[in-house]
Amino acid sequence: MPKTFNAEEVLQALRADYVKRLSALHKDTHHMNEPVEKDFAEQVVQRENDDVMNALDVEAKDLVMRIDNALLRIQSGEYGSCLRCGCKIPVERLQAVPYAEYCINCAEDIVRK
Ligand SMILES: [Zn+2]
Repeated sequence: MPKTFNAEEVLQALRADYVKRLSALHKDTHHMNEPVEKDFAEQVVQRENDDVMNALDVEAKDLVMRIDNALLRIQSGEYGSCLRCGCKIPVERLQAVPYAEYCINCAEDIVRK
C-alpha cells in the first residue's frame, strides 16, 4: 500500500466528521423548546424536515458503523481484502471508499441480487 494512503488515519478523520454531523443533526431534531401548537402547513414542513433528518441520521449511523468495522479489520489485518471472495481490494477503490467491504465485482454482484 502506498505511503500516501493511511487507511486508519483516513477512516478516523471520516468517522470524526460523521460523528460531528450526527451530533449536529441531533441538536436540530430536538424540538423541546418549540411550542406544540402549529398551523397545519408548518407541521407538514416540520415533518418533511424530520424525515430528511432521519434519513441523514440513518445514513450517517450506517457509515459510522461501516467505518468502525473497517477499523476493526485494520486491527485484525483483514483490511483491504474482499469479505466475499477474499481478493485484495484495489487501493484506488479504498481511497475512494475507505470503508469498502467488497471488491468492485462482488459489490456489483451483491447489488444485483
Ligand atoms: Zn470480491
